[in-house]
Amino acid sequence: MEEIFSRPIYAGRITIPEWDLHLIPAKHEALVSFETWQAVQRRRQGTAVAPVRKDINEDFPLRGFVTCGHCNQPMTACWSKGRSAYYPYYLCDTRGCVAHRKSVRRETIEGDFEKLLAELTPSEELFVLAFEMFRDLWNARTNAAQSDTSALKRDLAQIEKKVAQFLDRIVETDNRSVIAAYEARIRDLETEKALVAEKIGRSGKPVAMFDETYRTAFSFLANPCNLWASDRLEDKRAVLRLVFAERLPYVRGEGYRTAKTSLPFRALGDFRMGKYEMVRVVGLEPTLCHQKRILSPLMLE
Ligand SMILES: [Zn+2]
Repeated sequence: MEEIFSRPIYAGRITIPEWDLHLIPAKHEALVSFETWQAVQRRRQGTAVAPVRKDINEDFPLRGFVTCGHCNQPMTACWSKGRSAYYPYYLCDTRGCVAHRKSVRRETIEGDFEKLLAELTPSEELFVLAFEMFRDLWNARTNAAQSDTSALKRDLAQIEKKVAQFLDRIVETDNRSVIAAYEARIRDLETEKALVAEKIGRSGKPVAMFDETYRTAFSFLANPCNLWASDRLEDKRAVLRLVFAERLPYVRGEGYRTAKTSLPFRALGDFRMGKYEMVRVVGLEPTLCHQKRILSPLMLE
C-alpha cells in the first residue's frame, strides 16, 4: 500500500530520474487523480498536519504540535534553571497572551498526552469487530481476484483451442495464400495469448500487499501508545501525524481541549457512537452494503 501511495504512475504520471523526466503525463488511465496523489504525498511527508522541523528538540516531542489553548499558537519548550538543576518545561511565547511565559512541566503535559492517547485506543471488542470487517473486505478482494484469474484462464484455453484449429487447417490445405492468412491469424492469437498470460501473472499480487497493510495498520490501531513509547523522535512524530488531524490545544491547569483525531480513529469513534454509515476505510473503497452486512449483528444488539 505504501508503495502504491508513493508511485506517481498510479496518478497517470511517469517519473524516470535517470532520464531526467519527472511526472510526465503517462499514456494510460490514472487510478487516482494527480491532485489526490499530491495530497497523499503531502500527507505522507507530514506537511499537511504536523510539519517536521529540522531543529526539533529530541527532548520535547510535542513542541510545535501542542498549541496554547488561549492564543492557539504552537507552544515552545526549554530547559529552565532551578536552584540545583535544569528542568524541562513547555510554555506559550506569544506576546500579549494571558498565558505568556507561563510554563507547564514537561511530565505534566506529556503525561496528559499519554492519557489522551490511551483513551483513543479502540476497545478490544471494537478492535476485533474492525479487524473482522477488514478481513471480510480482504477476502472479498481475494475472491474477486480469483474469479478474475479463472475467467482469464478460460480465455487462454479458448485462444489455445483456436490456434490448434488454425494449425489443423494449415495441414489440410495446399493453397499458399490461405496458409498465409491462417498464419497471420495465429500470430494475432499468440499476441493475445501473451497479453492474457501476463494478466494472469499479475493477478493476485496486490492481495499480498493488502494482507501486509492490514497487519501493519492494525498493530498501530490496536495501540498507538506503543509507537509513542518508542525512543525514536520520528516514531513519536508519526503518531502525532497519524492520530491527530490538527494541532492539540493545551490549557495550563486544565489539560487538552477535545482533540480532532485523524480518519481511522475518527471512524472508530463514529463506530462507537453508532454512526455505521459513516464508517469508511481509507483507500480500500469498501461498499456500504457490504459493511452493513458485517455490522448488522451488532446493530441488532
Ligand atoms: Zn498563548
